[in-house]
Amino acid sequence: MHIALLSRNARLYSTRRLVEAAENRGHSVRVIDTLRCYMNIASHRPSIHYKGEELEHFDAVVPRIGASVTFYGCAVLRQFEMMGTYVLNDSVGITRSRDKLRSLQLLSRKGIGLPITGFAHSPDDIHDLIKMVGGAPLVIKLLEGTQGIGVVLAETQQAAESVIQAFLGLKANIMVQEYIKEAQGADLRCFVIGDKVVATMKRQAVEGEFRSNLHRGGTASAIRITPEERSTAVRAAKAMGLRVAGVDLLRSNHGPVVMEVNSSPGLEGIENATGKDVAGMIVEHLEKHAAPVSKAPPRP
Ligand code: ADP
Ligand code: GLU
Repeated sequence: MHIALLSRNARLYSTRRLVEAAENRGHSVRVIDTLRCYMNIASHRPSIHYKGEELEHFDAVVPRIGASVTFYGCAVLRQFEMMGTYVLNDSVGITRSRDKLRSLQLLSRKGIGLPITGFAHSPDDIHDLIKMVGGAPLVIKLLEGTQGIGVVLAETQQAAESVIQAFLGLKANIMVQEYIKEAQGADLRCFVIGDKVVATMKRQAVEGEFRSNLHRGGTASAIRITPEERSTAVRAAKAMGLRVAGVDLLRSNHGPVVMEVNSSPGLEGIENATGKDVAGMIVEHLEKHAAPVSKAPPRP
């Protein structure tokens, strides 16, 4: 197969591993800097240009689109979709995953376990917002945050009120969430490919911290998950319309709850923690599902 890897940086671990895995399995891969693509959408025959040439004849596109380039990255990916190219994750799924409110609404409609969560922009009644999610202690999150920055644990009603007031005073969109204390500072990253969880790791926060992000000093290790956790992760990825996803779960005393579904899950942490060839499994998935263009029927 001829595979296009949309990535801003060929030196990133995940990008390097995907290239290596595809080449080892006899495919040709080209890393394409998403932001340097330009497109013709006006004609009947959609096309993508890159550094002065037209990009053609890819059998599959693997998008690795960072949160900061979601808008343009998804436009490039959509252009490949219009050209009939197989994409590992499509633009709609990626767009959904980047909107935490939309994601949780979708997951809740499918009956997937979630922490009790409230959203607000400028409520007149902070008291009622807090009551709605079951009172303190609770977790308050900035919607625009990543890597655990902008995630605050408010242990008392008073702390919760002042943090919410402060965030809303800054005109930030926030999420107010039930604190899953019983998770004990750990979350589970379930790496989903197709309808299977292929690798799982547990991330444990450092002593005295409730956020398990590796960027916050958390540590990762391989872990076995229950059949219920497995099916929750697979259903969550499916609800989002993602073939490949990193589903983050918390172990709550009302079962597994989904915190987030990542559409460009990193490979470094999960491969190191589990010793599994996750990149190879992604390429294997492409082999099964992306028909080479040469064998596909001609497009009209
Ligand atoms: P980010 O997207 O910035 O990583 P998260 O929402 O994933 O933010 O939160 C960061 C970490 O905080 C999580 O990995 C988890 O360990 C912890 N955490 C988040 N929400 C809750 C919650 N409702 N209850 C308990 N711990 C939580
Ligand atoms: N690379 C990030 C992770 O796996 C996810 C990026 C994204 O999909 O927003 O944690």
